[in-house]
Amino acid sequence: MENCIFCKIMNGEIPTTKVYEDELCFAFLDIEPLAPTHFLVIPRKHIASAAEIDGDTAAVVGHIYEVIAKLAKEMGFSEGFRVVTNCGADAGQTVHHLHFHVLAGKQLGSFN
Ligand code: AMP
Ligand code: ZN
Repeated sequence: MENCIFCKIMNGEIPTTKVYEDELCFAFLDIEPLAPTHFLVIPRKHIASAAEIDGDTAAVVGHIYEVIAKLAKEMGFSEGFRVVTNCGADAGQTVHHLHFHVLAGKQLGSFN
């Protein structure tokens, strides 16, 4: 997708610190971390937001959660972690390529 910063990160046009990649998804450090560990996991296919997930794209979301569980074990999030996807203007979504924030490494507090 033209002019999508996350597509540009995946194709190497914008530099990043990669955490993980496979044929379906890509993970990289958030540029403005909100926790000691804060990375984003995105599908390789450009999907605008969680509101666009349908029967054709649901499988990649399951795969992303599987990858997150594997990374959590490997990276040692023994005290827990949080997965967040902001969807739409009211939720503060700023990049319109589906992404899952993974936050860990501090007490994250209650969520609201
Ligand atoms: P959201 O507000 O849920 O759309 O989150 C977008 C996230 O992308 C924010 O946490 C930003 O810090 C992050 N972000 C924006 N540009 C970059 C970039 N070039 N590299 C890494 N993370 C970025
Ligand atoms: Zn994109």
